Amino acid sequence: MKAWILAVGSEMLTPFRLDTNSLAITEQLNAVGCDVRLKTVVGDDLEELASWFRRAVGSVDLVVCTGGLGPTEDDVTRDALARALDATLDTDAEVLDAIRERFKRRGLIMRDINARQALVPRGATVLPNANGTAPGLWIERGGTGILLLPGPPREMQPLLERAIDAYIRPNAGDRGLFRRVIRITGRSESDVDAVAQPVYSRWVQAPVPISTTILAKMGQIELHLTADAPNEADGRAALAGAVRELLDVLGPCVYSTDGRAMEDVIGDLLRERGWSIAVAESCSGGLLASRLTDVAGSSDYFDRGVVSYSNRAKTEWLGVPAELIEANGAVSEAVARAMADGIRARSGASVGIGITGIAGPGGGTPEKPVGTVCIAVVTPNGGDVRRFTFIGPREMVKFQSTQAAMNMLRLHLSDGPSVYRD
Ligand code: AMP
Ligand code: MG
Repeated sequence: MKAWILAVGSEMLTPFRLDTNSLAITEQLNAVGCDVRLKTVVGDDLEELASWFRRAVGSVDLVVCTGGLGPTEDDVTRDALARALDATLDTDAEVLDAIRERFKRRGLIMRDINARQALVPRGATVLPNANGTAPGLWIERGGTGILLLPGPPREMQPLLERAIDAYIRPNAGDRGLFRRVIRITGRSESDVDAVAQPVYSRWVQAPVPISTTILAKMGQIELHLTADAPNEADGRAALAGAVRELLDVLGPCVYSTDGRAMEDVIGDLLRERGWSIAVAESCSGGLLASRLTDVAGSSDYFDRGVVSYSNRAKTEWLGVPAELIEANGAVSEAVARAMADGIRARSGASVGIGITGIAGPGGGTPEKPVGTVCIAVVTPNGGDVRRFTFIGPREMVKFQSTQAAMNMLRLHLSDGPSVYRD
């Protein structure tokens, strides 16, 4: 099956907004074996959009269109489709009731323009929208299925899933593209590729072929595996085998095999042990505390974080002796260790982390260039302190500091491949 995606909205033709819906739509279409052949952003222009619908009808199996279903004048998707198909727009009484009801429940006045959202091209099926006023619409014409979805991602997503189940999966067969993301930290992209490429290059010829792309992101490398499989079970099984092969050659630098973020992995490791954590940060400015608390439920293990930027703060809040800072410099293994010990002792948390470094662009010296960061991790099982030299601008040094700190903790806590999930 071949599909097009139309993202409707003039805001996405400015430098300020990006069409992200098409990524989620592509993933779900691929999973039911639907090939996305074209995607485009169309401004809020009735005739332009109508011409895309005319072009699609009869030449592609499926068109998924998001956006432009709002109540205002600039939302033209319904009218454009009606014009392209030469279909009459009727007011759907049920949709109108649902919109009225929604306004009443929220204690708001329904404006006349909202009634536009109840207009349905004759022949279309309505997909009720529980999260907003604009329903989705499905209509078939000339062998082409046309799906209209609202623009806000949280409204779009459930309607897309429902439409795929109702209209697309039944005609699609079992074949599909299935994906796994492996995340790695602490090794360079070229190093990862040198080890992984001989393994993944063989999979292209396998009975269930798997293609692999390697992506370098800040503080991590991702391997994206895509299996082209006759059904989901075969696809998942082939991917599980592929992941095991990669783990064998890449080892503990792999921190997640299911796309989970580092902070989620750390959260699980702490929760399994019933441990708590407290962090003392200098150059990362609270980013480690922020990332750790991005995880829902992190209050189970996150106790506190302090940003001890000045030497005085390190001494007053963490008990780092002024003489230690004087003797070693604020950016040193000794001070990182004293910060970790200090926050751990003061908080009573199981794990203490200390981060001190030079984020730049100023402040570097020949012995301690910009990007020098010392990190200490102390747990009930002992401690670990390391010096890193990160590259890149300030925000990259800050991010890599937090990534490395969590990775040190992960490696300290990992006792074998049990941290990986199939
Ligand atoms: P609309 O249905 O055109 O009124 O869109 C309403 C809102 O949904 C827009 O202001 C955007 O914030 C969001 N939106 C619309 N289209 C997209 C898209 N393709 N990707 C991400 N967000 C979108
Ligand atoms: Mg719009």
